Amino acid sequence: MTHQSQAEREAQLGAILERCNDLRLSPVPKEGSLPEGYTGTLGHFPVYFPEEIAHACGLLPVNILGGGNKLEMKHADAHMGSFICSICRSTAEMGLNGSLSGLTGFVTHPICDAAKHLGGIWARNFPEQLAQILYLPQNPNTPGAVSYVAAEYQRLRGEFEKKAGHTVDDAALSRSIRIYNRNRQLLRELYAIRRDEPWKLSCTEGYLLLRARTRIPCEEHNALLEAALPLIRARDRAAQDKPRVVFVGGFCEQPPLEMLEAIDDACYVVEDDLLIGLRWITSDVPETGDPIRALAESFVDRSAASPVQHDERKSKEGYLMEMIESSRAEAAIVTAAKFCEPGLDEQVAWSKHLDEVGIQYLVLEFEEKMTSFEQMAMQLETFAESLLFSIA
Ligand code: SF4
Repeated sequence: MTHQSQAEREAQLGAILERCNDLRLSPVPKEGSLPEGYTGTLGHFPVYFPEEIAHACGLLPVNILGGGNKLEMKHADAHMGSFICSICRSTAEMGLNGSLSGLTGFVTHPICDAAKHLGGIWARNFPEQLAQILYLPQNPNTPGAVSYVAAEYQRLRGEFEKKAGHTVDDAALSRSIRIYNRNRQLLRELYAIRRDEPWKLSCTEGYLLLRARTRIPCEEHNALLEAALPLIRARDRAAQDKPRVVFVGGFCEQPPLEMLEAIDDACYVVEDDLLIGLRWITSDVPETGDPIRALAESFVDRSAASPVQHDERKSKEGYLMEMIESSRAEAAIVTAAKFCEPGLDEQVAWSKHLDEVGIQYLVLEFEEKMTSFEQMAMQLETFAESLLFSIA
């Protein structure tokens, strides 16, 4: 890479980012277009899902993240009330309009009433697919939590094996864990750049690089990140006068890309919870011993936080403050998806706490089908200016 010019490196990185954006917009792969070594696809709903188990069974894990702002709603309204969040409604729509007919299975979680009912809608309308609810403990602070999670993972493993038509041994699971450990390491490096040199990688670019994993095998995503990271580090970009902020509220329904771009124009986002389920395990999962137990222990003891889990070790205020302090942020952008009960609850607690400790913040609401961002851009600009003025 050393003999490449800056323009050549930027073009190479641009091509990688373009591919990531194409993947964001691409449908779930169907039979005939599956990557080599995979016999089906396992769709999973946010927040966290142990992809390693599906991966080891030869089922490509694909994160189902709703339909974005281009999807026309024709069928879902007959199945769900209008007060349900966009991601649930558009996911149901994509099921009903056939966009997700290639899925071998779909796993959702009881993170909220809306997501829990999605499992039932799936089972009733798409009997050919394996519809499952993964019951992760809302409170992992009990002595039996690890054994309980391990039993739930073992149950899912059995269901996936039946669907895939073969059993999967522990060695295959440990191999998948190794591949995902490499991915976790690369994602930590990606976020370290955002924290230490945010002018080299915008929040939108980082998000596209992360989100690419929702459509391709983890090993391919590792290669993509291994190619992108040196190009990002070598970027010759000057730091601008922008405030450092933390973005929260992107743990389940995804904010439109245009919203992230508007935030990037005004601020450096040095930490966020976008697609936190893909970064849920915060350090390596043990690669030896019982792999299911190792995954379960990691879920309980080496994990991030989100509004849908109630872990006494991670208070709502505590984990936001940890994000702010560890990323040396000056302020926070506190968002929630429209009609998202867990997100709106957290937003109230966060705002109250930030008022108490005197950290500035901006409250924003979003939904998938938003198409106008001018007003939000003005709010962001005013927020950034007031921050720069107050910290000058
Ligand atoms: S966006 Fe909120 S309400 Fe909707 S499924 Fe996710 S957690 Fe539930």
